[in-house]
Amino acid sequence: MTDSSTARDLSSMPYEPPPRWRPPVALPTPRPQDAEAEAPTQVVDYKPVDFEPLDHDAVDSPAAENPPALIEKLGPTGRVLPHFPAPPLLTSHGPARVIALCNQKGGVGKTTAAINLGAAIAEHGRRVLLVDFDPQGSLSVGLGVAPHELDLSVYNLLLQRDVTLAEVVRPTRVPGMDLVPANIDLSAAEMQLVNEVAREQVLQSVLRPAMNTYDVILIDCQPSLGLLTINALTAAHGVIVPMECEFFALRGLAMLTETIDKVQQRLNPDLRIEGILATMYDARTIHTREVLTRVVERFGDAVFHTVINRTIRFPETTVAGEPITTYDTGSAGAAAFRQLAAEVLARGALVGAGAAQ
Ligand code: ADP
Ligand code: MG
Repeated sequence: MTDSSTARDLSSMPYEPPPRWRPPVALPTPRPQDAEAEAPTQVVDYKPVDFEPLDHDAVDSPAAENPPALIEKLGPTGRVLPHFPAPPLLTSHGPARVIALCNQKGGVGKTTAAINLGAAIAEHGRRVLLVDFDPQGSLSVGLGVAPHELDLSVYNLLLQRDVTLAEVVRPTRVPGMDLVPANIDLSAAEMQLVNEVAREQVLQSVLRPAMNTYDVILIDCQPSLGLLTINALTAAHGVIVPMECEFFALRGLAMLTETIDKVQQRLNPDLRIEGILATMYDARTIHTREVLTRVVERFGDAVFHTVINRTIRFPETTVAGEPITTYDTGSAGAAAFRQLAAEVLARGALVGAGAAQ
């Protein structure tokens, strides 16, 4: 499943925007100082149809004299950056596509991606449910919820049959995005679930009532490959693997893809890798560039074209308790997550039954 041949060729996807489509919110342009500070090479509006390969025989042609123009069109992953179409307007909601954000390593940007990708997808008029599935409750904290003050959390939903999803879900400050919060109680669930019937499918079954209400459900996994994470992978259609661009990340990815393969064989045959997301990327260091090159060599088109740069803005948003798309809406970080949302939606699977024809 990690074979690049199974990944979609985005550049060949024809796209005609429906005449009625317009962005649900006005997308602000990045401020020049942000562009300078974070040097995002990924925000290039490039349409593959405009691509003209270099004619190496015509040495005197202007194209041969000016090859840098062509190099600029390569994204940070070293591949030509496709144009990601604006997602079509939805006329109804559901069925939801469930995506687990998973990496057994901590501090790689899972929670940051869940919050900001969720918020950017919600800007496109999609209804998004975020599920905090980490006992540390960082996703809940990052959205301004105090985990120790919760009466009901995902723990109660998993283990108490009389608790319904509607009782646990709470709105966030982002229109269209809701949250199932978590706190330290969840750490006991791993042990308690062991005695349940169909213990790997408990999350899948408690999320079932949400499938027709939401378009996208993002599950923020804890940094381990234990029973909670297996529950998330069993409930999911796809996995997004956030990955910090550093050397040991490559070894960790091998272990994770093995687990995903096992879940696919035994519990969830439709599970696929939605994409590998390079985070905390710093184009100024050779090391991060080299790691990204190696990951693209190994995983090919499974690697998202969108890359998230390292910036202090993300830790700041956690303190503020809101996504970067509202905290600093014109920043390069917000633009990167908007591009990621368009890329995730363009990968096709997220355009649900309610898409306008
Ligand atoms: P995980 O959920 O994988 O443990 P987090 O999303 O919580 O990772 O990120 C770990 C820490 O790194 C947090 O403090 C977060 O604010 C910070 N962080 C995440 N993404 C970035 C980034 N692109 N640039 C700088 N800091 C980041
Ligand atoms: Mg986390």
